[in-house]
Amino acid sequence: MNKGIIFIISAPSGTGKSSLIREILKTIYFYKIEVSISYTTRMRRPGEIHGKHYFFVSKKEFKHMIDTRKFLEYAKVFNHYYGTSQKKINNILLRGIDVFLNIDWQGAKKIRKKIPESISIFIFPPSSDELFRRIKERGQDSNIVILKRMKEAETEMSHYSEYDYLIINDNFNTAVSDLKSIIHAEHLCVKRQNYRNIHIIRKLLNYE
Ligand code: 5GP
Repeated sequence: MNKGIIFIISAPSGTGKSSLIREILKTIYFYKIEVSISYTTRMRRPGEIHGKHYFFVSKKEFKHMIDTRKFLEYAKVFNHYYGTSQKKINNILLRGIDVFLNIDWQGAKKIRKKIPESISIFIFPPSSDELFRRIKERGQDSNIVILKRMKEAETEMSHYSEYDYLIINDNFNTAVSDLKSIIHAEHLCVKRQNYRNIHIIRKLLNYE
């Protein structure tokens, strides 16, 4: 078992997933969590920073990373490639730090298969109308892309039942608290406590 926990977070774009993750990183005190920065072949949007939001690479570089087995998982989403670096995730987990993987359902499926103890969380918007409004409000995509994203959102959401948890992001503060509850509960489950606090447990039970 890894020292840190992998929390896979999936949601259609416009669900508020990035804001939720940002808020958790700012306000969770008991556990250390880092966000995995993915590699992608898509174009950088205004305001996005290489190495902060994504590592923006060419298709050739991405293919080389696939061939040299650098990815824990990768997938094609909206005609672009996205991938999670195996090495970066290992470095985080081995330091006992949890990691958020902000990835799509295809990537989630691959990680669950490779690392069954990972925890997967799906985030829903409160309604399709609200999702449409949020995607439009971001103003980052053309109308065609928005409609395409709505269709993709439906496909993405149809996979929610493959996940361990479902959060409906209607009220932001409630959704933050829901996500924190999951993180806390997962740290307290017996199989993880047995791993992290085995010395305390053994002493209490007079095993050492
Ligand atoms: P965007 O281009 O809007 O930042 O992200 C598009 C989609 O790609 C989102 O659903 C996001 O979760 C997914 N995504 C981002 N990084 C990765 C990754 O490393 N692997 C996979 N499988 N999906 C990713």
